[in-house]
Amino acid sequence: MDNHHPSPHIALLTGAGMGHLTPTLRLAAMLSSKNCQVTLITPQPPVSTAESTHIAAFLAAYPTVNSLDFQIVPYTPPKPADPFAVQFEAIIRSVHLLTPLLTSVSPPLSAFFSDITTAAGGHQVAEDLGLPHYVISLSARFTSFIAYVPYLIGSDGYIDPTETIIQVPGLASFDISTIPSPFFLPNQTFTKTLVSNARALSKAKGILLNTFHAFEPETIASVNDGKFIPNFPPLLPIGPFEPHKLEIGDHQPLPWLDQQPPKSVVYVSFGSRTAMSRDQIRELGKGLEESGFKFLWVLKSKIVDKDDNEGTEEIVGDSFIGRTKHNGLVIKGWVNQEKILSHPAVGDFVSHVGWNSVMEAAAIGMPMLAWPLLGDQKVYAGLVEAVGLGVWDKSWGWLGERLVKGEEIAKMVKKMMCDESLRESARILGEGAMNATKVGGSSYNVFMETIQNLSI
Ligand code: UDP
Ligand code: UDP
Repeated sequence: MDNHHPSPHIALLTGAGMGHLTPTLRLAAMLSSKNCQVTLITPQPPVSTAESTHIAAFLAAYPTVNSLDFQIVPYTPPKPADPFAVQFEAIIRSVHLLTPLLTSVSPPLSAFFSDITTAAGGHQVAEDLGLPHYVISLSARFTSFIAYVPYLIGSDGYIDPTETIIQVPGLASFDISTIPSPFFLPNQTFTKTLVSNARALSKAKGILLNTFHAFEPETIASVNDGKFIPNFPPLLPIGPFEPHKLEIGDHQPLPWLDQQPPKSVVYVSFGSRTAMSRDQIRELGKGLEESGFKFLWVLKSKIVDKDDNEGTEEIVGDSFIGRTKHNGLVIKGWVNQEKILSHPAVGDFVSHVGWNSVMEAAAIGMPMLAWPLLGDQKVYAGLVEAVGLGVWDKSWGWLGERLVKGEEIAKMVKKMMCDESLRESARILGEGAMNATKVGGSSYNVFMETIQNLSI
């Protein structure tokens, strides 16, 4: 910052789940590196062990970031729901307890940032404190879709499932098969929370996105040129967010990768919270074995890591481990995904295309086999395919919709690992990502302008 303006003091409220905590922590580190004062507000207790571990490690690694533990009131939904979606609602319902904790912070706050999943709560706090509210979100396309959901749902609270295409002003149309299924069902906690967050999006001062211009040029231009909802706030693409310097994760894969030839290994991971059925895990194992390529496979068998107590052998079987021991490594637990992706031995990423994983792959030009399983992931798979970062077989369906057979998986893995033109287009995209974030790049400029605006 220059000498004329004091550095802004920014409070950031995290959401729930690693897919939402990660971008908030990265943004906190990015702001701190630009001399902003940062107060990180973490709703307590978090749902998963991974969140607790990452928050503690982050605060130890960034001692200038202030930390504020925010004890939330537990929420019990009327019927069982996704534990992370329940936590979003609990956080939003508890924000009246947060405002009094922030009135006397020193120096006074300049702005309040909140994750998209808690945007309704963030808007409330910012309004009570008279601060500008910025929302931290993922892709331009899905964030804009969420903002439009209140216009799409009927008085009964869900989107008409008989349409085949959804038109949204200013955006390319959405095939209904790519939209998260809870939107088409009555009485979903997830939809109710999202609708309140959507309304808060429209009232925000700006929407900070972990994306970059070259990844989603049409959506960003269209929304920012006023072709979307009237008076919608600006989309501020500032990604791919810089990795933070946390060294968390099982180190086992790295020495193993060191022994493998360049670009010989398929890295297989479905993020922090997606558990496949035993049958699907078996078929995936068959497919990897049949492909003939080396693989590093990270297994998750429960949505919340605290419930995940089974060993690797119990899940994939001793005979699979024995047969593939020279060709593959199967591990359970947390790995350092960014370290793995940037290892020279890794040639391809089989992914559920969670948005953080997409941006981590884009940042280094790593080709992806998109296997979207839940929620927003099919929209991301469409973007990944369109931009030349990966391939997607739409016939595989949502998680549990049908059993994707080992031979189909083997065929796609082989096709992908041998696809030189995909490798080249992914490499070019990686260069675009690097250009966006370097000094003078599109993401860098938007980030610096946002900070300048908060300093005035
Ligand atoms: N991640 C990781 N190690 C793991 C699992 C996940 O480092 O064992 C990270 C991954 O790099 C990403 C985040 O956790 O930054 C997961 O977010 P994403 O949006 O990809 O998927 P989600 O977990 O939300 O489905
Ligand atoms: N979710 C889910 N099933 C679905 C849709 C969403 O379990 O069919 C979960 C999802 O994995 C995430 C949360 O609900 O933990 C929010 O969904 P999504 O990722 O689609 O929206 P976002 O929070 O990324 O805007």
